[in-house]
Amino acid sequence: MRELLEKMVEESREFTQGGQLASYIPELLKYNKDDLGIYLIRNDGKEFYAGNFDKRFTIQSVCKPLILLLALIDNGEDYVTQRVGVESTGKAFNAIMDFSQVEDLKDHINPMVNIGAIAMCSMIEGKDKDEKFQRLLDLTKKLSGNENIGVNMQVFESERKTGDRNRALAYLLKSYGTITDDVDDVLDVYFKACSIEITCKDLANIGFVLSNNGRSKSSDEEIVSKKYTRFVNAILMTCGMYDGAGDFAIRVGIPAKSGVGGGILSVAPSIMGIGIYGPALDSKGNSIAGIKLLEKLSNSLYLSVF
Ligand code: GLU
Repeated sequence: MRELLEKMVEESREFTQGGQLASYIPELLKYNKDDLGIYLIRNDGKEFYAGNFDKRFTIQSVCKPLILLLALIDNGEDYVTQRVGVESTGKAFNAIMDFSQVEDLKDHINPMVNIGAIAMCSMIEGKDKDEKFQRLLDLTKKLSGNENIGVNMQVFESERKTGDRNRALAYLLKSYGTITDDVDDVLDVYFKACSIEITCKDLANIGFVLSNNGRSKSSDEEIVSKKYTRFVNAILMTCGMYDGAGDFAIRVGIPAKSGVGGGILSVAPSIMGIGIYGPALDSKGNSIAGIKLLEKLSNSLYLSVF
């Protein structure tokens, strides 16, 4: 398996040349465009990795399924879905649509686009923004089995400085009454969530829990309820890969979430959790070589659920 993974990584690496680093968050330009790595954890507990699997990078949009999980845990499914819809938008992750004719904002947003994730940040329980974020970080540590996960403060500052589009989305949410908290506080939680620093192994562990009905590999403890992992996996399948989710479903066929930091969290239900890192992105914001690598892996191990 190790050799197979190494071969697939090396075959996929050339595709990094066709991608670009995310430039709208200046700190992300410091990443190495050629990097590509994978870590997977099978349901028998065996772990395999190849390429630049040990690089640290920021989670970016891959925090969205974690925010969704915590919003569900704290509020239940009805509360969340009354405020954030579940249909794919077919638009870019940070799209600002003309909402002026829209009666119910929730019908036009979902938990995997920025506006939906920002709305869910305000649903996390906590007396202030610090407690809300700490609870999200604690969940991330638990799901990944890594106590040492923290925030990259340079990326956080970079996001905050350049995050006017997200600020616009947050004000829009406030104007619709979807959020009632202070906009800067909500955005602080969101920007910090995007700046959590992780590795492929952390993503593989999180993917493992999602593939294993909410149970971790080490203790078989139920970290989140099965009904919520099912909910999250379904949303990942339909909305996880930005406006490229349909193509990804055809080519790879498993629930996954990508981020502009180059990470892809992937879940092969009942089979394995997979973490990918490849910061060269395609035009939609997905890791260009990471998708190639997942496509090869899915074909060779028959991972597609279809
Ligand atoms: N922090 C990024 C933003 O909100 C995350 C985007 C992403 O990874 O899709 O713009």
